[in-house]
Amino acid sequence: MAKQLTNKQALRYNRQILLPNFDLDRQEILLNARALMIGVGGLGCACAQYLVASGVGSLTLVDDDNVDLSNLQRQVLHTEDTVGMNKCLSAKASLNKINSDCNITTIDHRMSRDEFLVEANNHDIIIDCTDNLATRNLVNEVSIKSNTPLVSGAAIRMEGQVSSFIPGKENACYECLSQRFGEQTLSCVESGILSPVVGIIGSMQALEAVKILTSLGDNLSSQLLLFDALSTEWNKFTISKNLQCKACS
Ligand SMILES: [Zn+2]
Repeated sequence: MAKQLTNKQALRYNRQILLPNFDLDRQEILLNARALMIGVGGLGCACAQYLVASGVGSLTLVDDDNVDLSNLQRQVLHTEDTVGMNKCLSAKASLNKINSDCNITTIDHRMSRDEFLVEANNHDIIIDCTDNLATRNLVNEVSIKSNTPLVSGAAIRMEGQVSSFIPGKENACYECLSQRFGEQTLSCVESGILSPVVGIIGSMQALEAVKILTSLGDNLSSQLLLFDALSTEWNKFTISKNLQCKACS
């Protein structure tokens, strides 16, 4: 049965409930929403804190990596005290302090395709905060098979990008995009990343997730939003569906 907001929660989320078109109804949708986050690095930390603060009821964190000292420059849920700890557990400790109402589950190993599919079927949205093409393509495949919307983000050097992929006949998927750009092997390890850039992109992913979950306004389905931090410019492009796409066509 769907959970209803308590009086205390209605006070807590009052500034959102006040928004035109948001109201108690959408806050209650968030309370019952289940988000699956793949990767709890820079993007994941920025995104998760806004999901949890905004009142998303359940969040599953997936990451098999441990916190390293060099992560602290941008992965803001991890702390000096949690260096060496699994990233899901480290993030969960911080997120619990932000909002103890959120039901946070952790998966500290690499999921098989089958396990991932089961998890996706138990969630309302997938948020891809990973940093490599192979995992991104798997996340996309699982999103399509489970018919679960996907919010995808990436950040490197002084650049970032955000897109949403809602499975459906007319809509492009992540591979429709990634096929065109080919293999991108760059990672933050070799290319560097300016700290606030991941925060901006992760926050945009949280915004997309909240809007998609609550059917609020327009989202970035079949659109690619690019951010150039050096020139402080945003650009938006349409991603056309590839009719020969292996993943969605
Ligand atoms: Zn596709």
